[in-house]
Amino acid sequence: MVGITGFGAYIPKYRMARDVVAKAWGPRFITGERAVDNHDEDSLTRATEAALNCLAAGDPKAVDGLIFASTTSPYLEKQASTLVATAVDLPVEIYTADHLSSVRAGTAALKAAMDAVKGGSAKNLLVTAADTRRGEPGSDSEQLIGDGAAALMIGGSGVAASIEGIYSLSEEFMDTWRKQDDDYVQKGDAAFVQAYGYARMVPACIKGILKKYELKTSDISRFVIAAPDSRVYARVTKSLNLPAGSFPEDPLLTTVGDTGTAAPLMLLVDALEKAKSGERILLCGYGAGNADAFLLQISPEIERLRGRRGVSSYQSSKKPLANYEKFLKFQNTLPTEPLEPYSSWALLWKEKKQNLQLYGTRCKKCGTFAFPRRRICLKCNAKDEYEDAKLPRKGKIYTFAKDHLFPNPDPPTVMAVADMEGGGRFYGQVTDCDPAQIKIGLPVELTFRRFHQGGGFYNYFWKLRPTE
Ligand code: ZN
Repeated sequence: MVGITGFGAYIPKYRMARDVVAKAWGPRFITGERAVDNHDEDSLTRATEAALNCLAAGDPKAVDGLIFASTTSPYLEKQASTLVATAVDLPVEIYTADHLSSVRAGTAALKAAMDAVKGGSAKNLLVTAADTRRGEPGSDSEQLIGDGAAALMIGGSGVAASIEGIYSLSEEFMDTWRKQDDDYVQKGDAAFVQAYGYARMVPACIKGILKKYELKTSDISRFVIAAPDSRVYARVTKSLNLPAGSFPEDPLLTTVGDTGTAAPLMLLVDALEKAKSGERILLCGYGAGNADAFLLQISPEIERLRGRRGVSSYQSSKKPLANYEKFLKFQNTLPTEPLEPYSSWALLWKEKKQNLQLYGTRCKKCGTFAFPRRRICLKCNAKDEYEDAKLPRKGKIYTFAKDHLFPNPDPPTVMAVADMEGGGRFYGQVTDCDPAQIKIGLPVELTFRRFHQGGGFYNYFWKLRPTE
């Protein structure tokens, strides 16, 4: 039996009411709010966060593969999955791959992982999907799109949702696209795209999988259907005549937005959080003429995954972003005062274990833990007598400073020293915070963020954020 053995999700803290955008451009606005990346977040950092939540109770060393799915990888050339795998501390002897270019990449990655486990080339494969798509300022897309991420572990033992069947459709169709030099998502004529793209392919795919496995809509407990907007979602659920209560009224569109590649997986995580043993789920994702459907059967193992950080815990944890100019700065549409920090490729590689994987040192003589890493023990002066030990991600602020001069789209920059649970000290920036709430003793946790672009590339590092 192959299927889902773990899940996690992540939604950025900032939510922007859609009328904030409408106020800047005109009266037309779409109901609800959308999730917005902080200035130090991108698809890679969010995918990492979802993967960490998925791995929460598991051993990262038991994972033998990671697939990152996104249409907005930070790099056009350079694999992002390798960095995600390093930050979540997966072993080196694994298979990593990026699935890119279509919002259907999330379900494509899920199928690839399922096939790999079925075929025996992997035992536990982690799929993590995130997007940071941008709509042109003033367009509907700017309001509709939202930032999110999801991660699923695919394995053969401890399966909470077995994948019982799949069905796909693939037909060349232009509905949304982005050329190499396009900054924003481009769309064809809305009425045509809706009628001949999503609203035609998604029902066909759902009917196709039901026919293939000789099932009726009443045999499905939960329909999980990702959609680009509420209107077309209502049109499709109505045309399929789905039983009331078998699908969410709002597929996260009014609270998070259209999360692109992550959308079907986030909705599946949301459904798994509520699912009970014995239920049958039908998942459907779509992107530019491609539709994938999956049949899943929930097992009693679902109880083991209760309490994971999925979609629901992030729905209530939010901070309003009421300033449209700040949103443009967070998205890099408006520039922030430039900063040209120094970065070295050699140093990045040399300090990978400390700066990306969060390993400190533990003295073999007296057991003292140190972070940053030390060759000489702070307590007993033993030299080169240490083993690697992981820095805990939770701690408390020991001291802090607020810097109003350092270039930052959201000043001031808060710097803090935190005493981590179980030893070690972390010195770095505090993010996702209200500077006024920072005080000595405040509980914080480490989060993986984009730091700066020194050296001409993206530098990632850990930051502190207040614990919920
Ligand atoms: Zn020592």
